[in-house]
Amino acid sequence: MKRVVGVYTGSTEIMQANWRTVEQLKEEIGLNLVILGMGPAGDIWGPSQEVARKSPIEVQPVGKDDRLNDFIQEAHRRDIDVWICISLYAEMDSGPNHPELAFRDFDGNIVEPVSRHGSGWSWSWCPSNRRWREYNEELLKDLTRRYEVDGFTMTHQRYSPIGHNLFNFFGCGCKECERAAGELGYDFGKMRSGMNKILGLMKSVDSRRLARLRDLDLGFTDLLYYLGADPSLVDWINFRCDLIGTGMERYHEAVKSVKEDVTIGTDSFPPTFSSIGGHKYSLLERHSDFLSPLLSHIFIFALFNFMELTARMTDWNSGISEADLLPVLYRAFGYDKLGLPNSLKAFHEHESLPSSDFSDTKLPLSEAVRREAFKAVAAVRHDKPMYGIFSAHSKIDANGAKFRAAAMREAGMDGVILQVGQLPGPEANLKAISEVLARWG
Ligand SMILES: [Zn+2]
Repeated sequence: MKRVVGVYTGSTEIMQANWRTVEQLKEEIGLNLVILGMGPAGDIWGPSQEVARKSPIEVQPVGKDDRLNDFIQEAHRRDIDVWICISLYAEMDSGPNHPELAFRDFDGNIVEPVSRHGSGWSWSWCPSNRRWREYNEELLKDLTRRYEVDGFTMTHQRYSPIGHNLFNFFGCGCKECERAAGELGYDFGKMRSGMNKILGLMKSVDSRRLARLRDLDLGFTDLLYYLGADPSLVDWINFRCDLIGTGMERYHEAVKSVKEDVTIGTDSFPPTFSSIGGHKYSLLERHSDFLSPLLSHIFIFALFNFMELTARMTDWNSGISEADLLPVLYRAFGYDKLGLPNSLKAFHEHESLPSSDFSDTKLPLSEAVRREAFKAVAAVRHDKPMYGIFSAHSKIDANGAKFRAAAMREAGMDGVILQVGQLPGPEANLKAISEVLARWG
């Protein structure tokens, strides 16, 4: 498989960038892929007028000075591929403006990003909304037809993490999702009542029983039995993964119906929490040309989850302590060997909680990224290439960048995709990563 070395960048930035910046990256780290981000509302390039009109939200159709094909030709002259990144359902900053697309709980209420510890931008959209799905299929066909692009990577093609609001796992409960569940062979009513039962259990935890579970080092199946081993929980997890999987299948088909050789895949939750975020790696592998585990936001995708679960459950159950609950959660999700703190206060070393990865402080983030990289490769048949996405921006030091790159290589991945912040990215980090890439083989 071709080793991919990619970088994310914003369209405006890259269009204005001196090509010397890109050439510098090619020379230093062997860059061969540039990924252009496009928000749901479009960019300086975008959908045709005709397709833009089909969008359920206001999008900016392509303007007169669209120079994307010129950019792609310049990139191709330098043997650099260009992908477009398209954002779909989760973590939408414009969420509150679109109630008709909103992610809802089982009572029909819009789920707001109200985590005590998360950030405030993670509104979610319903992943089964027909108009939004149809528009995105049309968008992919349109972009494939009009631009000489080499591929697409979908993002936010998932449910928002529970770290932003625990109720991101207890939805979407809207009518469209109920219909979609029936079509996929699931009994939505049964799942809804089972999940409400689990919520009830979480709100009435026996503190003595919890302390005993902590001392017993319970495993995931023990936790399942504690929760009543209700088949609804497993059905709910599978349904949400199937729903996201059917989306990926449709987007994959849309692109291939126009040009067979244009590649399409998606980024994915780190594997530990992927199934509760709607990502079953085996399904993504089936419906994608590549996989790219999103390991650049380990705080959001893993640590926020522990924090939000603990904050909610200690609020609901006055008798239980953070020191009893956190070890149980770490153990259940396989984070018990990382030496994470047993109090929420210890997570708050930074005044503003991060939206992206940063260098190790008291929290062993590098090690968490490494373990998730190994789990990701273990979770698939590996008949499709896998490119690990990690941070190499200025909040990561050179050691951290090197450690992350080495983890992707040692895990057996087929390349890396970097988030560098401002192009080309910190010089020391690029140098450290280049040392790993030189020995990749
Ligand atoms: Zn829904």
